[in-house]
Amino acid sequence: MIPQIQPWIDDSEWLEVKRVIESTYLTENKVTAKFEEGIKELTGAKHAIAVCNGTAALYCALKALDIGHGDEVIVPNLTFVASANAVIMAGAKPIFCPVKADTLCIDVDAAAGLVTDKTKAIMPVHLYGQSADMDAVLTFANRFELKIIEDAAQAIGVEFNNRHVGYYGDAGAFSFYGNKTMTCGEGGIILTNSDRIAQTCRRLKNHGRSHRGTFVHEHIGFNFAMTEMQAAVGIAQLRKLPAIIERKRQIYHAYITGLADVPQLQPVFIDPRCKPVHWFTSFYAENRAELADYLADQGIQTRLFFCPLHLQPCYQGWADPQMNYPVSTSVYEQGISLPSAYGLTDDEQEFIIAQIRQFYQLKTSAKPLAVGCVSEA
Ligand SMILES: *Cc1c(COP(=O)(O)O)cnc(C)c1O
Repeated sequence: MIPQIQPWIDDSEWLEVKRVIESTYLTENKVTAKFEEGIKELTGAKHAIAVCNGTAALYCALKALDIGHGDEVIVPNLTFVASANAVIMAGAKPIFCPVKADTLCIDVDAAAGLVTDKTKAIMPVHLYGQSADMDAVLTFANRFELKIIEDAAQAIGVEFNNRHVGYYGDAGAFSFYGNKTMTCGEGGIILTNSDRIAQTCRRLKNHGRSHRGTFVHEHIGFNFAMTEMQAAVGIAQLRKLPAIIERKRQIYHAYITGLADVPQLQPVFIDPRCKPVHWFTSFYAENRAELADYLADQGIQTRLFFCPLHLQPCYQGWADPQMNYPVSTSVYEQGISLPSAYGLTDDEQEFIIAQIRQFYQLKTSAKPLAVGCVSEA
């Protein structure tokens, strides 16, 4: 099976982890601090706070902005479910916002109609490695005096207007889950330029205290610490990141070129203000379900798009019944992500492209036959 996604793991992660194990210091310490420094260098953010996963990063960012019971947060309807779940975890209510048909990111024009006196924040999600329209988000948040928490879980390396995403607003959250552009196994990080937000996040992830070794707690906090093993993997992955991003760019262009003359496939539009990282290469496909089945039979794994929040079984009854979200629904029905792992070989990719072409050739030659059967058989 050619995997849709797979992390690039080799001796470099093993050597970093081995060093940590041999040191016997496994809970968060210097290696995690070094990982945070690496992320700050990459992104240009003033603060980077490592946590155990991306969901915890979103939660801390929300709480540091004082979002909780009785508040509403505007979240794009097409996203991984954790964006909305983190809002619930913070005690607030996610409000599902339509997305744009071109970039698949939040439709800020549609968000204006969702603002109430309870709205506290907007959470743009940088989906599939491209940025939401942060110009529009900033203008919108200014106009309605809202906080901005970027869900940048999928967006390490992504820039908008030549600046790394994740700290355009008040704070942003990244994930280093196994299938993300780079991984720590599990892991997350919060970016912010605000000293106050950074300090609150550090307290929240460390039982409400600013330093270890004290047992008098002025604040209520939790334990969302990263481990030194996770950070060690992250440090090795950070060194590989430029190569991973470059390889994903090549994979993207090879698909775009190789499938350019297949009219049944449309690539997802990329905003020219954005420097994307092609975490997944995705298309809108005619006969998407059949294509996915056909490719699976050929040993090619693909992935469907995220199920929109308003269609999630766990969010039945949450969306405004007046809204039917035609864009996220049709994107969900047509979207397919092709194998996009760093380790995908050129031969494998040529095979995938040939199989997709073959699928649509069979389909188009089958159509007139079905009609012709009646008169010509
Ligand atoms: C992966 C992801 C998350 C959650 O990150 P975890 O590290 O798995 O908790 C949140 N939002 C989006 C958009 C994601 O893709």
